[in-house]
Amino acid sequence: MLTRRQLIKSAGLFGLLGSGLSLKTIAAGNSEKKRVVRFAHLTDVHMEPELNAPAGLAKCLHHLQSQKDQPSFVMSGGDCIFDALHQTKNRVELQWNIWQNIFRQDNTLPIEHCIGNHDCWGFGQKEDPLYGKKYAMEKMQLTMPYRSFNNGGWHFIILDSIQPKADGTWYTCLLDDAQFSWLQQDLAATPLSVPIIVVSHAPLVSAATVVTDNKFKDGEGYVIGVGNMHMDSPKIIELFDQYPNIKLCLSGHIHLHERVLYNGVTYISNGAVSGNWWKGMRYKTDNGYALVNLYDDGSFDDEYVSYGWNA
Ligand SMILES: [Zn+2]
Repeated sequence: MLTRRQLIKSAGLFGLLGSGLSLKTIAAGNSEKKRVVRFAHLTDVHMEPELNAPAGLAKCLHHLQSQKDQPSFVMSGGDCIFDALHQTKNRVELQWNIWQNIFRQDNTLPIEHCIGNHDCWGFGQKEDPLYGKKYAMEKMQLTMPYRSFNNGGWHFIILDSIQPKADGTWYTCLLDDAQFSWLQQDLAATPLSVPIIVVSHAPLVSAATVVTDNKFKDGEGYVIGVGNMHMDSPKIIELFDQYPNIKLCLSGHIHLHERVLYNGVTYISNGAVSGNWWKGMRYKTDNGYALVNLYDDGSFDDEYVSYGWNA
């Protein structure tokens, strides 16, 4: 014999089936997640006049904008230009001009920027007002090298991984004290019900960084350089551990596509538009970009897409 409860349930079910809804829809009910943001993550373009790089970026932009399901904006992960660290101002300007012209001609989507190490100019030419990060910030139209904003119910945090060494000659990957306190405050001010995505140029956590490029040294084990991954990862992870609403961290820099799940946070490095600096693939990672979907329940997906570039 059916109970009253079961009877109502089955009547409801048949009523719904009669109305044309599939069983799958009914099973999901109102809890079906809704996509709230879709964007393209492009990182490590390394623009230069050589190696057909301008045509490569144009092809990539056309590829992502001709997706049937188009992203709503481009998240640039840094290292837009091949290199500014050791180049003359003319050379740096030339690379930025190519970058900007291509984006003007071949892209209609809004763009958000994250600063990369190769975007920072001429550590060593301190007298120039555009020295260091200011050049990149001007080209990216940023007033601060790090920031946060909300989009589609998600909180985006864009970090600045790149800090000059004390002698000003080279970079290290970390958050300086001012940025770390800003991050602490920004996280504390974000309600726990709001899912958070963090974007940085250098990975906060990476496994591929450790196992590529023959970093094993006899007697020492795997040794990674100061420029490969954030040096302050333990401190950042300790902070992240307090916020279960941090869901996804995206980076570039290593030109490899990898995904690491650690303490409930997924860390993804999304390859490189330039692949192996426009000379082909880097290990098994092809020239590509990622399409990222964010959902209202705090879940996400990230698909790395090759745009068919032949070096
Ligand atoms: Zn980089």
